[in-house]
Amino acid sequence: MAKTLVVNQEKCIACRRCELACAFKKVGEFNPAAARLSVAVFLEDDVYLPIVCQHCDEPFCMEICPAGAIYRDVQTQAVKINSDRCIGCRMCIMACPFGGVDYSVSEQQVVKCDLCDGEPECVLFCPTQALEYKEPTELGLAKRKKVARRMKELMREVG
Ligand code: SF4
Repeated sequence: MAKTLVVNQEKCIACRRCELACAFKKVGEFNPAAARLSVAVFLEDDVYLPIVCQHCDEPFCMEICPAGAIYRDVQTQAVKINSDRCIGCRMCIMACPFGGVDYSVSEQQVVKCDLCDGEPECVLFCPTQALEYKEPTELGLAKRKKVARRMKELMREVG
């Protein structure tokens, strides 16, 4: 099974180093707005949650893209965007149940995690191992699929 980004939510301390590391790698600036992941903070519940593409087995973003701009990298199994083909319709952003796709105003294009070609920068800089790059467990995979399918159903109900 291919390695992927695994989020250990309970280990996240919301230091946001992952956002800064990602942004610097992608655009050369310590600008969290340019990061391909974000950390959601729920202060009232003392919960911090890194939000990032799950590189799903059945990516809804890929399924819905009318331009065929989203594909899977054969080396890393990352789900990537071909910006030359992307028409900027943002359907992928709406389709992703995990909030893993975003629109970058400064770059004027849709962006997402590409696993840094197999060496995710966010993982290198996370001080607590809240982010790991490893093979997911069967249980973890099953949970993600269940959440994704439910989100897809909900989107169909409201859409
Ligand atoms: S670097 Fe790790 S601990 Fe810090 S915010 Fe990101 S995921 Fe959480």
